[in-house]
Amino acid sequence: MSIKQAISKIKFPNFCIAATLLFFSFSAFTPANQSFAPKQTPVLNVNFYMMGRENLDTKVPLQIGENIEFLNQEFEGEILFELNEIFMDSEGAYLPDLYHNFRKGAHADINELVRPLEQKGGINVYIFDTYCEENSSAALMGFTPRLKMREETYATNSPKFDRIYIAYQGLEDMTTLVHEVGHFLGLKHPWELGPGDKYQMGLRNASEINMNHMAYGANVSSFTKQQLHKMKKHAMKYRTYLMSKIITDLNRA
Ligand SMILES: [Zn+2]
Repeated sequence: MSIKQAISKIKFPNFCIAATLLFFSFSAFTPANQSFAPKQTPVLNVNFYMMGRENLDTKVPLQIGENIEFLNQEFEGEILFELNEIFMDSEGAYLPDLYHNFRKGAHADINELVRPLEQKGGINVYIFDTYCEENSSAALMGFTPRLKMREETYATNSPKFDRIYIAYQGLEDMTTLVHEVGHFLGLKHPWELGPGDKYQMGLRNASEINMNHMAYGANVSSFTKQQLHKMKKHAMKYRTYLMSKIITDLNRA
């Protein structure tokens, strides 16, 4: 009897038993508690505010688009960023002045400037002019207010801690925004970390530190895997209210 004939001889009920047995044998070999966790990719909304500008300079929106592209490149698909809206306002200020007030706890100026414009549901990036202060060769390019504790209250404080401040000049090298988004999602500068924390973040030698986005300088070029993991964890835990969506990949590796 050929194989083909043998198959044709299998009666339907037998086939059902075979299928059922197969099912049970599979389920018997599958652990009851599956360790499979689908990969989730958060997509964060980003709004930009061109401060102190009355006429649309098309160079800035183009740079904003390039900055978003660069953010997506440097976050290596762990977190995605989506440009939501760009606003323009004639009210302006200088970034170093805002920073000094911020450090003193004088928030009235900033709030007066940004509150009337501020949108909910996205990272709000405010772009201001900057200048070199006396005794300094470099201008301030950005800063990001964060909660020092009780990070679970980011959502209830929204949109107060959904702000990033950067300089127009900071859009040019594109690493400024990446650095500030690093702070926004819970990262510190390497020099603020103790030896153990530095090691845990994958910052294990001078070159890894110098090349890291959370350092300063012209050589910064990447985040470590550990930093990307930490930022994604922060986003999924505290910043879901800023997401347009979460992409779930059900494909098992
Ligand atoms: Zn910084």
